[in-house]
Amino acid sequence: MNRITAGLALSALVLTGADAEEVERKRVAPPAVYDVAPGLGHFTDDVLFGEVWLRKELALRDRSLITVAALVSTGKAAQIPGHVRRALDNGVTPAEIGELITQLAFYSGWPNAISAVTEVKKVFDERGIGAAAASPDAPIPLDAAAEAARAATVRGSVAPTAPALAELTNRVLFGDLWRRAELSPRDRSLVTMAALIAIGQPEQLPFHANRAMDNGLTRVEAAEVPTHLGFYAGWPRAMSAVPVLERVLASRDSAEPAAGSSPNADVQIIRATPEATSIGSADRFTGRVQISGQYRATAPARVGGGTISFVAGARTAWHTHPLGQTLFIVSGRGWVQKEGGLREDVGPGDVVWIPPNVRHWHGATSDSSMTHFAVSEALDGNAVTWMELVSDETYRSGRR
Ligand code: MN
Repeated sequence: MNRITAGLALSALVLTGADAEEVERKRVAPPAVYDVAPGLGHFTDDVLFGEVWLRKELALRDRSLITVAALVSTGKAAQIPGHVRRALDNGVTPAEIGELITQLAFYSGWPNAISAVTEVKKVFDERGIGAAAASPDAPIPLDAAAEAARAATVRGSVAPTAPALAELTNRVLFGDLWRRAELSPRDRSLVTMAALIAIGQPEQLPFHANRAMDNGLTRVEAAEVPTHLGFYAGWPRAMSAVPVLERVLASRDSAEPAAGSSPNADVQIIRATPEATSIGSADRFTGRVQISGQYRATAPARVGGGTISFVAGARTAWHTHPLGQTLFIVSGRGWVQKEGGLREDVGPGDVVWIPPNVRHWHGATSDSSMTHFAVSEALDGNAVTWMELVSDETYRSGRR
């Protein structure tokens, strides 16, 4: 071979190499995918990586975070190294990957997290990434009012049955994990949302989607999460998340500060007219109950209430209030009872505080009417959860 031919052969090789690289860049799916399932190869390269990963609604770094979150939370260990490499290339730091795994230990279990650590360590070793150091930053402060409401919900709904779980939730999960500076609150919320969708737990999504958006995730980004996860957790899980997310977005719409938040907003008076009076419905009240002056303040305020008059023998059904309720007894004689507690007598001037999530009823006594003014705050637009009617036996005996 003379020098010229050798040179030509060499440049041909270089060209071939560049072409191969170009093809490789376009093809993420391994050749075996094309051998076995050519359709899957097409969807992988043309749709998933050729279209979805390129959508601007979510940054590449965010796509990597939620992809790794989906893989870790569903225990897909074999796919973790590839996506951790991609995540590092997309700007996710090694410390953030470590903290994502820590966060998801709580949301999808320790075994998945420990398995993920083994896979991630391989990538860190191959890239020469050393041992992680703890963040020198102080714990992130949480919004005091939102945190108080959250802790009260856990104490009311979890503590009676599983007191240690409630205590660990408040002290460790929210008091420590959620305050760690190793992952920003927005990213922590984002990976938690992704894990909840991936493991098929949309019931927990409203709290975390709201929290994510409170922490700076935009609506467009939030809506893109199930779109992306359709490919990593499957269509059913993505589709199940959509109506839940839709309700969250709608509730945030109604909570947007409206005209009422202007310093020039008018004082509003709900006149004591017959039109402002309604009769309590039969699935929520027993006996004749009249409700007047019902109001709900303009968001972001969340207080509301009304005046409720019960004839003798009338009472509410069993119910709870997510953030509690205050009753101001105006006239007559009444009874108030929490489940498992004593039936209490109340009269004019008495003030009754019903703690959050305590199952209870209130109404007139059996031989006197009673009127009270009731005030409660709404949580995510809800101020009361109605349950079954109070039986005559429970009402009269005062035992439950
Ligand atoms: Mn009540």
